[in-house]
Amino acid sequence: MATMTPFDLSNRVAFVTGGNGGIGLGMAKGLAAAGATVVIAGRNKAKAEAALSELKATGAAEFVELDVLQETSCHQAIDRTAQKFGRLDILVNNAGTSVRKPPEQLTAADWHLVLNTNLTSAFFCSQAAYPHMKRGGGGKIINIGSMMSTFGASYASPYASSKGAIVQMAKSLAVAWAKDNIQVNSILPGWINTDLTKKAREQVEGLHDKVLARTPAQRWGEPGDFAGVAVFLAAPASDFITGATIAVDGGYSVQA
Ligand code: NDP
Repeated sequence: MATMTPFDLSNRVAFVTGGNGGIGLGMAKGLAAAGATVVIAGRNKAKAEAALSELKATGAAEFVELDVLQETSCHQAIDRTAQKFGRLDILVNNAGTSVRKPPEQLTAADWHLVLNTNLTSAFFCSQAAYPHMKRGGGGKIINIGSMMSTFGASYASPYASSKGAIVQMAKSLAVAWAKDNIQVNSILPGWINTDLTKKAREQVEGLHDKVLARTPAQRWGEPGDFAGVAVFLAAPASDFITGATIAVDGGYSVQA
């Protein structure tokens, strides 16, 4: 392959779970603008169509219907993407959900839904991506953690468990696959204005103002705040960075 500039993603193929909305779409737009072909994977087709029309204004993009709770579907969707485009260079494990209840009220189904969506799917998608990245001479895996990777909340025990674990999983994959020139890093978003947090703001009293008061940047984040960090972690610029976590939180996690 020709020498690339540090942030050039031409000829790269990216697969973004939950790339049909919110933070995933914010990252997908960044990757497409940097030259990558971007496959967005999710369940909601209407959201995906709107996302695709935005993405196609910038670059090449496609939607793949995928429920990340189905382990074999993750493998099949990633294999098909690699076959269709001849390679797979970038995987963004972004699909996520939450069930907000006090721990004593959570059901087993609540627990498994959150852990399987946020954590287990990221492992199986990474496992599916591995042989394609190895064959292509390297790759980039970007996991989406949370402030709950570090902090706890009374209503978020399964969510925080999944987000703490996804960061630790990234470190283990980073160590295992460094020999294959695959870098695995995690992004920790602060509080971002998306469908997920729209629901949180309805369910958790006072959340909107609490976040504003604690965030030095004095605003909620927007999906567009993730375009640059996605490009950085997907590009040659970050080739010697692996197992790292980068907070994108307007300073939320460093405020004393
Ligand atoms: P959204 O609800 O907008 O996005 C979540 C995405 O995940 C959706 O596009 C959804 O696609 C997809 N998804 C959920 N379940 C499945 C599933 N079973 N199969 C396939 N796709 C699925 O919220 P955000 O953009 O906020 O969330 C994106 C990530 O960022 C999540 O991992 C979240 O935990 C994390 N995060 C968000 C923060 C925030 O403040 N917003 C803070 C910290 C982390 P579909 O609708 O098609 O099911």
